[in-house]
Amino acid sequence: MTTDPTSETLAELGATSPEAVREKFAVLQARFDADIARRGSDADEQPALAAEWTGRKAGALTRIAEHWLRPAPAELKRVVGQEFQKLKAHVESVLEQKRAELDARAEAASAALDRIDLSLPGVERRVGTRHLVRQTFDELIGIFLSIGFSVVEGPEIETPYYNFEALGIPEHHPARDNMDTFYIDGSRGNHLLRTHTSPMQIRTMEKQPPPVRIVVPGKVYRRDNPDATHGYMFHQIEGLAVDTDITFCDFKGTVEYFVREFLGPKARTRLRPSYFPFTEPSAEVDASCHVCGGSGCRICKFSGWIELFGAGMVNPAVYGFVNYDAEKLSGFAFGMGVDRLAMMKHGITELPLLFGNDVRFLRQFP
Ligand SMILES: [Zn+2]
Repeated sequence: MTTDPTSETLAELGATSPEAVREKFAVLQARFDADIARRGSDADEQPALAAEWTGRKAGALTRIAEHWLRPAPAELKRVVGQEFQKLKAHVESVLEQKRAELDARAEAASAALDRIDLSLPGVERRVGTRHLVRQTFDELIGIFLSIGFSVVEGPEIETPYYNFEALGIPEHHPARDNMDTFYIDGSRGNHLLRTHTSPMQIRTMEKQPPPVRIVVPGKVYRRDNPDATHGYMFHQIEGLAVDTDITFCDFKGTVEYFVREFLGPKARTRLRPSYFPFTEPSAEVDASCHVCGGSGCRICKFSGWIELFGAGMVNPAVYGFVNYDAEKLSGFAFGMGVDRLAMMKHGITELPLLFGNDVRFLRQFP
């Protein structure tokens, strides 16, 4: 006994009346419908299912034609033929319908992959800009390049000699207290992080005969308590001009030119007496407030003036350290806090904003 009725004839199955024949066909159709319900919507299963039913050599329909239809006795031939055509039409039409459904589903899936929605907004790629500190450096350097200065840079790790002694700040000099220093190899060791860019004055004059006209941009370090306006590191530009005929008038004229270039043609300059170990006389350079024009406002603390930087005529004692002839030479020097100038010019009150790398802040200075 075999479980597949299509491998036996109807006579062998005992179907000898039209009713019995119709019943055998009904059972087959029910089996097909069950097969379709189970596997007909699966893209991998469906071709195998179709082959099982309609395959030309071994498909169920072929076997029915061979085993049921051809050997059918004359009196049942007509009903077997009719039932066979009905089943065949049903099987073929249902399979065709399932195939169309699968095709449509595959097409929709691939269309979804390919679709480009031209109405979607594009991806904006932001172009980077120079950091505000870099912009300020470039602006300051540009002003001095335009009047004949050149740019030199130097090491951030210095020796006490270049950072202090050669600039007239020996051990125990009170000025050292104002520059609380990071020593690299222990307290009061032989290497330190420079506390100002002034060591490059000495290094430059050691290497080159006068005249000298340089600006020195760079980072400097001090042990400080970080707050809204102080950090462990800040940016500075040092300036030095030395020649045979430089007077205080040249110094003042250079400073005034710089202030007008940096803050605008209406800016006025004021020099206040001050003290630095390596300049004599020394001055604090103030400018009329660029916000209120001098009438007084919050930015200038209602004084009308803004403190810009310290400067002065080079102390002749410095020339002794670099074998320059103090009798014949004279010059001036200045040191500017670049971060401070950037904050002052742009009305920024918090120094940490400059170093936070918050693009929302940085984008305001394209
Ligand atoms: Zn003001």
